[in-house]
Amino acid sequence: MPFVITDACIDIKDKACLAACPVDCIYEGGRTLYIQPDECIDCGLCETVCPVAAIHAEDRLPPELAAWPAVNRDFFGPQVTGWGKPGGADATLTTTLDHPMVAAWPDKAAS
Ligand code: SF4
Ligand code: SF4
Repeated sequence: MPFVITDACIDIKDKACLAACPVDCIYEGGRTLYIQPDECIDCGLCETVCPVAAIHAEDRLPPELAAWPAVNRDFFGPQVTGWGKPGGADATLTTTLDHPMVAAWPDKAAS
């Protein structure tokens, strides 16, 4: 069961998880970060460093966050980046794109 980034990360994006991930399977989108579920090795390190508790193991997700595994997975699919399973985040993989649910999320700075 991979780990999942949820709405608490939107517009925060401090990248603490990205620095902690031993396999570089956390990728940056426009307003949030996304975990590539097929590359995640379930070590849990990212969950321990997130300052806003945005990261959860998929099998321990609260019911209200049930949509987020698909958000993370679909970010890599043809409907968003088409990156598939890139094999590790690096400087060549950059985008301002987000999953439609993230793109439509209310601006936290305005609330
Ligand atoms: S659980 Fe481990 S491998 Fe998976 S995204 Fe978090 S730090 Fe990376
Ligand atoms: S550590 Fe948490 S808030 Fe920071 S980028 Fe990762 S998921 Fe987002």
